[in-house]
Amino acid sequence: MKISILGSTGSIGRQAVEVIQKMPDFFEIVSLCGGNNIDELRKQIKLLNPKNVCVKTEENALLLKKEFPKINILYGDEGLVEIAKDTTNDRILVSVSGKTGLKPTLAALENKIDVALANKETLVMAGDIVMARAKETGTKILPVDSEHGAIHQCLSNRNEVEKLIITASGGPFRNKSVEDIKNATVEETLHHPRWNMGKKITIDSATLMNKGLEVIEAHHLFNMPYDKIQVVVHPQSIVHSAVEYVDGSVIAQLGFPSMHIPIQYALTYPHRREGIETRSFDFIKALRLDFEAPDLDKFPCLQLAFEAGKQGGTLPAVMNAANEEAVFMFLNKKISLWNIYEITKRMMEEHRNIKNPSLEEIIEQDIITREKVKSISL
Ligand code: MG
Repeated sequence: MKISILGSTGSIGRQAVEVIQKMPDFFEIVSLCGGNNIDELRKQIKLLNPKNVCVKTEENALLLKKEFPKINILYGDEGLVEIAKDTTNDRILVSVSGKTGLKPTLAALENKIDVALANKETLVMAGDIVMARAKETGTKILPVDSEHGAIHQCLSNRNEVEKLIITASGGPFRNKSVEDIKNATVEETLHHPRWNMGKKITIDSATLMNKGLEVIEAHHLFNMPYDKIQVVVHPQSIVHSAVEYVDGSVIAQLGFPSMHIPIQYALTYPHRREGIETRSFDFIKALRLDFEAPDLDKFPCLQLAFEAGKQGGTLPAVMNAANEEAVFMFLNKKISLWNIYEITKRMMEEHRNIKNPSLEEIIEQDIITREKVKSISL
């Protein structure tokens, strides 16, 4: 299988490289796209020998061109799109962070290249447009998010589904008070109990906005109404998600918490292969599995996402833009963790929703919202 990785130096991208290295007979790397971590990218180039490489800036592109004169070096958002639409690929992995994923995903779909999608913002911003494009071109979108990977595996007959059950670890503040959450430091918030991930998604996991984004992602991926998607907190992160059928049977996907497994399945689908994490699941070692309802007073971002999803139009893109910018401000210690919720809620309230928006309208509202958040005074 010929594949390219967009976002190869991030958390998902690095784990994908580990998966690919384990199966050299199965995979051939066409292109690698990294951000600003040039040292990591350099290592990956030597290891995987790609034909094309894309970096964020022209400066870094010139640097790599000197070191690797035989490789085609591209840069910026346009470079990403070039790489995504290269029909040499059988499949691309989109594991860039935030809104950067949208355009390359659409470019791949338009060229009938299957997409293993780790970037949930793409579907939150423009899920209707992206899924319609996949359908028109008969191209697959394979979810990398562990919950959606689980649901993908549990779905046998979509017509007989009663509801989807998306599990959430609950993040670092599951047992903390609202006051504790309001006063949380960046360091505390970045300390996730179960998953080791990039910074943006780790903050989203602490506010449960990540779970809200996943609800919208699931709505689009599996064409499921919002009242048939349930979020359940499951701190052990063993049950990755489940599907309930009309007869009351529930099929769940279980495994030790590791992103290698869902990444691998999205890349090898429809095949299963022995891989980097191949070890037997031990029910005795798992000891116990707990489940509880999410506390919406402590984690109101989850409610915002359900509201944005149900309203549709440009509102999910506005929510996503406001949240993403607010997360950056929190990481830069300019606002509190709770302000992320307050800013996002305010941007959603002030937005005049556009129903059935075009891609241009979505991108315009994304930009307007980001500017508004940056100029906000609290
Ligand atoms: Mg997830």
